[in-house]
Parts: sequence; C-alpha cells; structure tokens
Amino acid sequence: MATVFIGQDEVADLLPMADCIDAVRRALGALARGEAVQPLRPVMWLPEKVGALGMMPGYLGSIDTMGIKTVTVFPGNAGTEYDSHQGTVMLFDAGNGRLKAVIDATEITAVRTAAASAVATDLLAREDSSVLAILGAGVQGHSHARAIPLVRPIDETRVWSRTPESAARLVANADGNARAVSSIEEAVDGADIVCTTTASPDPILTGALLEEGMHVNAVGSSVPFARELDSEAMARSRIFVDRKESTVNESGDFIMAREDGAVEDDDIVAELGEIIVGTRAGRGSEEEITLFISLGIAVEDIASADLVYRNAVASNRGLTIEFGGARHG
Ligand code: NDP
Repeated sequence: MATVFIGQDEVADLLPMADCIDAVRRALGALARGEAVQPLRPVMWLPEKVGALGMMPGYLGSIDTMGIKTVTVFPGNAGTEYDSHQGTVMLFDAGNGRLKAVIDATEITAVRTAAASAVATDLLAREDSSVLAILGAGVQGHSHARAIPLVRPIDETRVWSRTPESAARLVANADGNARAVSSIEEAVDGADIVCTTTASPDPILTGALLEEGMHVNAVGSSVPFARELDSEAMARSRIFVDRKESTVNESGDFIMAREDGAVEDDDIVAELGEIIVGTRAGRGSEEEITLFISLGIAVEDIASADLVYRNAVASNRGLTIEFGGARHG
C-alpha cells in the first residue's frame, strides 16, 4: 500500500501558519462537540529524566482521520544541531486502517503549538491588544512571534530570553517592530499579550507582574514537575485550557498551584473548544486577566498533519513508496 513520507523542510512549506490556525480552531471545536477521540498521552521518561518519548494518539471525526504523534523531548538539545522535539506524526485511514502518511513532527509541533496560542489569543485577548511580550526565544518563541500578529494588531514585540543571544536572534528574524529586552519585568510591563515559551522548571512569570486586561499564553510547561507561572499568577487569572482532563493531570503550572491551594479544578473556566462552539463564554470584561494553559494535544497534531498531507498530495510533494499493509493470502 502506498504511504507518503513528508520531511521537515516540506512540512514548513506545506503548513502555512494562518491555515494551521484555522485547522486547529476547527479541531478544538470538533473536540468540544464530541467528534474526537483522544486518550491521555503515555509518556516514557528515561532515567534521570534526561529525555522522554511521548505517544499522542487521536481520532478526528470531523476529517475522518486518526493518527499518532510519537515525539521525543530532549530539553538538553538546546544549542546543539538537534531540535528538542523530534519524531513523526503517522496518519491512518479511519475506514480501513491504511497508513496514509509519515510526517516530520518537529515542524508540526513548532507550528501547531503557536497556532493553538493564536486561537486562544483570538478568543480571549482584548481586541485592541498591540503589545506582545515573548519570554523565551527558542523554537516556540520564534513561532509565537509569527503567529500572534496574525490575530491581533501587534505593533510592538518585546523579547526576553535567558541567553541574550537567543533574544537577539529572534529579533533579527522577526517582522516588524521587535526588540530584545534585558529583563522579564521590562518585557511584561504594559504588555497586552504575554507568551511564556521557556523550558524553565521554575516560575518566570509571577502574579505581581500581571496587569489588568492582560492575556497570557503559558506554553512552556507540559509536564507535572515544571512550571513557568507561580501560584499567585494562577490565582489572579481566569483559566482557559486546551483540554481540562489533560490540564488537571499533566500541567505543572496548574498542579503545583493546586498543591499550594491557589486553584482548584473548578477554577478552569472553559476549554477553548467550548468557546468556539458557543457553550461557554470567554473574556468577561476588559479588566480581567485571561490565561491559556497550553499542554498541546493530539487533535492539534492530527489536524495539522492532515493539512500537510492534503497539500502534499495536491502539489505532488513528499516521497510515496509502497510500504506495507497489503493482504497476502
Ligand atoms: P527550545 O529548546 O527551542 O528553547 C528552550 C527555551 O527555553 C529557550 O528560550 C531557553 O532560553 C529557555 N530556557 C531553558 N531553560 C531555561 C531556564 N531554566 N530559565 C529560563 N529559560 C530557559 O524549546 P522549544 O521552544 O521547542 O520549547 C520550549 C518549551 O515549550 C519546552 O519546555 C517545551 O517542552 C514546551 N513545548 C510545549 C508545547 C505545547 O504544546 N504546550 C509544544 C512544544 C514545546 P535561552 O535559549 O535563552 O537560554
């Protein structure tokens, strides 16, 4: 049976950020309507937690496709030739189980994560939000600098990163009015939208720094034992998530604040999909602080991979080989 293999550079061509934002928005809506299947992801950690292998299966009835992202996470790869997230998204035909495509997961993860933050920002940030702060100038910092201006009229982007050279690199690559700043306080002071995109295990964004009307996308912590926001920041915010079940089980930002007594499960206002389909409301006033806790979920990967696959087939890209799955006898 024919399977299409699509590598990293091709994914970059075949997954425009604006289209990915639309695909992720539709996927989150389908999830909220009960048109998806998505179990919690198993994560296999290596000894001393030097790296992990995550397995993220999902089925999206809205596009009748199922798949799995297998992704390794090696935070120590920063500064090496290897991305900290590597792997594949495999897409299967939901009618007969055929392996349709094997697609690089590094690029999909980079784009779909920022696309999810853009969806959250579009749903929750004040309409006139124009000042963007990015904390952490790695892969996610770069993709968030591309994605957020697609949904709000950003005219100033401030970039802070632990290593000043990282921030300078992002600024050099960014469109428009971006500048590096030397402290988190300077980045956040007066910002409308704040994206935390670091691999820091300890809080970098404290409640004292949050201002009325802000919107925060908390992206960097996807594991129970790391957090970018302190408990006060969690307590001051109205909390929105990609998937509640994932948040209460996997989010260090949430779990550690819950252990401190700052939040409880019922403080989660809504999943993004519930706002998209209209069963829950988003921002309630110009003053409140909205927070999107991003864990990253399989339906985002499946929807993005499906878009890549369809674009590849339409433009004759990727490498098609006879792979397996044929019945012999
Ligand atoms: P990169 O390796 O490309 O970048 C890591 C970033 O974290 C760099 O900006 C680095 O700063 C910063 N950093 C690392 N350690 C610290 C620290 N102790 N204090 C402050 N900053 C630190 O990773 P990615 O951009 O791909 O991912 C960033 C984070 O987002 C990771 O934790 C990753 O697991 C998470 N992630 C979440 C996803 C989601 O769906 N929610 C999806 C993908 C990733 P510098 O370079 O300046 O030293």
